[in-house]
Amino acid sequence: TKKKFKSEPVSRDPHRSKLSVEELRKKSRRVYLAARKDKKIHELEEELIDEEYLFKDVKLTKREEENIKFKRYALDLAHEHEKAQQMENIDRYHMPDGKSDETSKNDRYREDNRYSDAKANGQAGQNFEQRKWEDEVIHTALPHFGSLDKEAKSNQPKYDYILDEEIQFVQQLTIPGVNELLQYKEKSKINEHEDENKRKHRSLQESRKTLPIYRFREDLMNAIRDHQVLIIEGETGSGKTTQLTQYLYEEGYCEPDTENVEEEEEEEEEEEDYDDDDNIKLPNGKKKKEKKMMMIGCTQPRRVAAMSVAARVAEEMNVKLGREVGYAIRFEDCSSERTIIKYMTDGMLLREFLSEPDLASYSVLIVDEAHERTLHTDILFGLVKDIARFRPKLKLLISSATLDAEKFSQFFDDAPIFRIPGRRFPVDIYYTKAPEADYIDAAVVTVLQIHVTQPLGDVLVFLTGQEEIETANEMLLERTRRLGTKIKELIILPIYSTLPSDMQIRIFEPAPLGARKVILATNIAETSLTIDGIHYVIDPGFCKQKTYNARNGMEALTITPISKASANQRAGRAGRVAPGKCFRLYTSWAYQHELDDNSIPEIQRTNLGNVVLLLKSLGINDLVNFDYMDPPPMETLRLAFEQLYALGALNHKVELTKLGRRMAEFPLDPMLSKTILASETYKCSAEILTIVSMLSVNNSIFFRPKDKTLLADTARQGFFTPGGDHLTLLNVYNQWKDTNYSTQWCYENFIQFRSMNRARQVRDQLEALMERVEIEIQSNPADTIGIRKAICSGFFYHTAKFSKNGMYKTVRHQQSVLIHPNSCLFDQIPRYVIYFELVLTTKEYMRQVIEIENEWLRETAPHFYKTKK
Ligand code: ADP
Ligand code: MG
Repeated sequence: TKKKFKSEPVSRDPHRSKLSVEELRKKSRRVYLAARKDKKIHELEEELIDEEYLFKDVKLTKREEENIKFKRYALDLAHEHEKAQQMENIDRYHMPDGKSDETSKNDRYREDNRYSDAKANGQAGQNFEQRKWEDEVIHTALPHFGSLDKEAKSNQPKYDYILDEEIQFVQQLTIPGVNELLQYKEKSKINEHEDENKRKHRSLQESRKTLPIYRFREDLMNAIRDHQVLIIEGETGSGKTTQLTQYLYEEGYCEPDTENVEEEEEEEEEEEDYDDDDNIKLPNGKKKKEKKMMMIGCTQPRRVAAMSVAARVAEEMNVKLGREVGYAIRFEDCSSERTIIKYMTDGMLLREFLSEPDLASYSVLIVDEAHERTLHTDILFGLVKDIARFRPKLKLLISSATLDAEKFSQFFDDAPIFRIPGRRFPVDIYYTKAPEADYIDAAVVTVLQIHVTQPLGDVLVFLTGQEEIETANEMLLERTRRLGTKIKELIILPIYSTLPSDMQIRIFEPAPLGARKVILATNIAETSLTIDGIHYVIDPGFCKQKTYNARNGMEALTITPISKASANQRAGRAGRVAPGKCFRLYTSWAYQHELDDNSIPEIQRTNLGNVVLLLKSLGINDLVNFDYMDPPPMETLRLAFEQLYALGALNHKVELTKLGRRMAEFPLDPMLSKTILASETYKCSAEILTIVSMLSVNNSIFFRPKDKTLLADTARQGFFTPGGDHLTLLNVYNQWKDTNYSTQWCYENFIQFRSMNRARQVRDQLEALMERVEIEIQSNPADTIGIRKAICSGFFYHTAKFSKNGMYKTVRHQQSVLIHPNSCLFDQIPRYVIYFELVLTTKEYMRQVIEIENEWLRETAPHFYKTKK
């Protein structure tokens, strides 16, 4: 039967009170009204929290118990009334028109004025006290955004000429806060004793205790002890990702599994040659014996999150990253034999099943960010559920940020749900009055608008990818430079998945006094990373998504509108430290009518080739009846089989072939794995490894600064190599290698050193895997035909033929496509080309293209071209 954990220390059940529910209701309403009148609701709440906490473990008299219970119930109801009132106010809630919302030169004057105005015409209504209090929390008044209309302008000559553009917003709704008082209290306590600078140095251990999850540590540990599978749900930033692993470690979940002693002893003999150095001291003084400690694994859908969270936890535990606390992401393993807390991408854990099918080295698995529903997380659900059945001691925690908990619970045989009450301040939501044509430009304008009109507090902007982030970054730099000293300092920080880790850390550093931080982020900041200090969120309403057309197997990355659930998560990021504001760069109508409620799980909109290959090599044969939370479309599965068959990875009985088994060794798309394996035939494995590595760093090789586009383009063209872009990439890498991987060389040639370094890293990893499939590294740089044939063996599906209308047509689906203007084949017109990927922008472009001969297709893809012709 399903159990729900009430994580609140005191039961809220009104039926156990002597008063009837009706009486309680009346009474609570009175308490509420009285509290409102005397502005005391916050105080009452604080008192109660203290009381609840104090008496948590004390045996109380019945009367005392009832008393506390009543107070809690009354206050809860009071809060509900408050929320209900806010909701009722929505229609009346409109953007201040500037008349009552003075924005004068004098801050003090403005503040007083605003309150007296609001009082005088009652405009702020019931929310007035609440607002005043909110304002006090951030120590400053909040002039309403968007009040820059004509009349208001006359009152603020200062801003009039600063901004030449502005966007009109309307406020629609305030997402109510939850338990914000708790945080307010903790905040004020901190403020009493420490000034701004000292707070920075407050010990990490102290700050761990201020996270919402801390109060529920004991309940949580009890629940985990009592249940094998537990669903944990909590607001982003409550400490799930960074704290759970540490609690579990402190609770002893890394201790060796004593029941497996026999097995371990056998193993020990083999490992006698480990020297003493490997018996290391853990922070609590325990010794870790080699191979005996169990690991706590925590998966993340995003690589940046895995790295960043691991770094944070290592810091909190005061150990070196990569030792006791480590991470593993594709092509980068920062863990060791000593690692006991391991963060990794969901894809990495999936691959661990290949080497350790029962994941015996883990005592706990945390599938984090479950709500993201990535393909790999979804597949993990089925696999971990299965191993939990025959490993009764394994603990399985599924943690998620949103309200999907019920669904996870159902999937895991009605596992109990543990809710960590969130803590969030209210967030005002603003929509644009009219749709914005260019959301990047609109985002930039909004950042500046916030910067000149709003009190200090950091800004978080959601963009869809690296390119957009770089564009916005440049635009902001340029405009702030133009404004010069007319505005306060604005620190612009990007964050996206391929950003080097030293740059990633900077987003967590607090802004210097008097300055404002603007973080330009991808979806990574939606729930995976919590950045403290955000007061304003700008949400253009888009994200980059893989889309897959199951009818024709076309896969593309497209910029898609986000879901309502995402939009609300994004808005929530503004209310972590104080009441916040979220500016949506779309209209309220668009939110209501154009956004879906939830995003579609990735498994239903992606190519499954990779996963099918992996599951097949795990010996899971019946993929149709695999335990999916949401099954993929049959058509998608069928296409995956078809593709793997064409690649030679599956035989006609849909069994894995030897080639397929070797392909599964590579953490790559099957087409890339096949290319690598084919390089054996054409004796060019060294070149293919380089090309595959360069392709995997994904369009960030060439650097094109806005002020030197001509120079950069000339430099790029200098690398062009006959045959196509893959060979151009090879050329770049080899020249770089000849300079002994020089930074200076990259700089002079407009090449991104960081991307090159990453390609080198990837290449090293792939080269190590070549041993496992027993392929010799052979170099044959002059044989550009052999190299292209190897590529052809993997990418024959991606063939396009030039057609009379001046476009290319994909051979498989007769889709009209063009060569990307960046390609070295752009102004040549080869009859047949193979492309690496399609990108949908204004047109459908092929990116990374090589020229091929028609005959090569039959030679390299007999399965496919024999039958199709
Ligand atoms: P959740 O997983 O519940 O969303 P987290 O455990 O990720 O919460 O975050 C808890 C706290 O740890 C947040 O206040 C966040 O700011 C802080 N934190 C997490 N990672 C880092 C980091 N790399 N640097 C600094 N602070 C961090
Ligand atoms: Mg988290």
